[in-house]
Amino acid sequence: MAKAQRPLIVMKFGGTSVGNAERMQQVGRLVAENFEHTRVVVVVSAMGGVTDMLIRAAKEASSGDREAWKGARQELARKHREVADAALSAGEQAAVLPRLAEQVGNFENLCSGFSLVREVTPRAMDTLSSLGEVMSATLMAAILRSQGLLAEAVDSAEFIVTDERFGNATPLFEEAYQRTRQRLLPLERRGAIAVVTGFRGSTPSGLCTTLGRGGSDYSATIVGAALDADETWIWTDVDGVMSADPKLVPHARIIPEISYQEAIELSFFGAKVLHPKTIQPVIRQKIPVWIKNTFNPSCPGTKIGPSPANGARGVKAITSVSKSQLITLSAKGSLTFAGLAAKAFSALSMEEVDTLMVTQSSADNVLCFAVRDADLKRVKTILEKAFELEMLHDQRVSIEVMPHVAIVVAIGENMKGTPGIAGRSFGALGRKGINLIAIAQGSSEISISFAVKSSDVREAVQAIHDEFHL
Ligand code: ADP
Ligand code: ASP
Ligand code: MG
Repeated sequence: MAKAQRPLIVMKFGGTSVGNAERMQQVGRLVAENFEHTRVVVVVSAMGGVTDMLIRAAKEASSGDREAWKGARQELARKHREVADAALSAGEQAAVLPRLAEQVGNFENLCSGFSLVREVTPRAMDTLSSLGEVMSATLMAAILRSQGLLAEAVDSAEFIVTDERFGNATPLFEEAYQRTRQRLLPLERRGAIAVVTGFRGSTPSGLCTTLGRGGSDYSATIVGAALDADETWIWTDVDGVMSADPKLVPHARIIPEISYQEAIELSFFGAKVLHPKTIQPVIRQKIPVWIKNTFNPSCPGTKIGPSPANGARGVKAITSVSKSQLITLSAKGSLTFAGLAAKAFSALSMEEVDTLMVTQSSADNVLCFAVRDADLKRVKTILEKAFELEMLHDQRVSIEVMPHVAIVVAIGENMKGTPGIAGRSFGALGRKGINLIAIAQGSSEISISFAVKSSDVREAVQAIHDEFHL
């Protein structure tokens, strides 16, 4: 696609950034400032806390509680109404309030249905949990118009075509890209700013899906890749990607530049600042992704791009998954280690389960791996089914689970070429009296993982962070 003169930037604003009227107006000013010299497509999350509230309400309704979700209905209406009252002209209010009321009506219909049938299917949950994005996009577009810009709220369910994995859908890229261009380019050509709902998509037959929690980051890069944008900016509530989660390590530092690969590892291993799939759509076109702070826009933030030829060596950041469990599979008798591993991993891969780290003792036929708490029940069922026969035969395979484990991960490209990283980490943990349960080097060779007790996670992250002077 030929580039027009003014660069095109997709800007995504997270839940905190659009958390109330004042913040949405600040977003409006940021967009307006940038729109003076770039073309802009906006992607928004639901207002902070709204998605959690919607999901909670659906669960309460489906458990037969007829009252709890009515409180959520009030809160949903109040929160969005407050923004309309504070930030919109009378004309815009007249246009927007009926649309917000329509969404609140949708919420009410869905929840009363759930409470009647005492069930919420993943498919219905997606329709409900992404209503917050529809409401915030409606408000955000109206705020931009109130600030004198041409803007239109656009529902991404119209063009982000996905598979049918409700709750964690993946785009059918070719079709999604084509439909995104069809829907957004005409707006862009007439100088209007599209304000796109993050998080939402739809199946080819038009059923609403969502891209997984935190999925608006992913929406932004999908739109960026479809439009061959010059850059994608993810506006959030921290100054950029930091050397550790600032909530665990208050003195963590901003990393000015990281590679796509490092960002993928960081987000896979729990750094909430990016949805784990965010980077994937932009790799081929090498579109840079910037992480920026809505509350401190003069800070340049972090640039995520292709690896620099002479990138810095050693550890760049520490991250962690605090809620995980360690599974140990042991085999005796005729089952070889390779047989054990092959059977376990092929069963897990068929069900698309992520393993966080893997260690082994081939001589003893023992395989050990970590999975997220949320996956444990599923994993146990899969393994019990895969080894049903062996277990019937006098426990030729046994499965043990160690709960309350955290995986702490040191990340940095070229770490492999830097000696002593594992040793220094051991030392740092040992000096704090933290017991190391297992260690593994990531196959990508840009991460090393340490399993520790969940209760040690904060101290372990701090110890390794400080050891490498991050
Ligand atoms: P948004 O609502 O804008 O999408 P999120 O809450 O999803 O924001 O992500 C931002 C949060 O990610 C930060 O407030 C921070 O606590 C957390 N975080 C975790 N790890 C990191 C890291 N390495 N660098 C920056 N932020 C991180
Ligand atoms: N609102 C959705 C969530 O809370 C998506 C997002 O914020 O990225 O998960
Ligand atoms: Mg997020």
